[in-house]
Amino acid sequence: MADEQKPKRKMLVNPGACMGCGYCEDVCPTGAIHVSDYARIDEARCIGCGCCAGRCPMGAID
Ligand code: SF4
Ligand code: SF4
Repeated sequence: MADEQKPKRKMLVNPGACMGCGYCEDVCPTGAIHVSDYARIDEARCIGCGCCAGRCPMGAID
């Protein structure tokens, strides 16, 4: 197979669903998330692992 490298999964936060708990920030292996009023993801640091989405109790990250 001549697969090209898969594009990195782009993670999106729904600010309206985020309650600012910070669980995603704790679980992110690259320190790409910073939570203030809601979670913000630094795309340059994100490797698209999906850990944050799995950890979020609100389903605010997709
Ligand atoms: S997908 Fe992974 S690297 Fe990207 S913000 Fe979420 S936990 Fe961090
Ligand atoms: S885990 Fe979910 S609800 Fe908590 S800060 Fe992150 S995105 Fe917001």
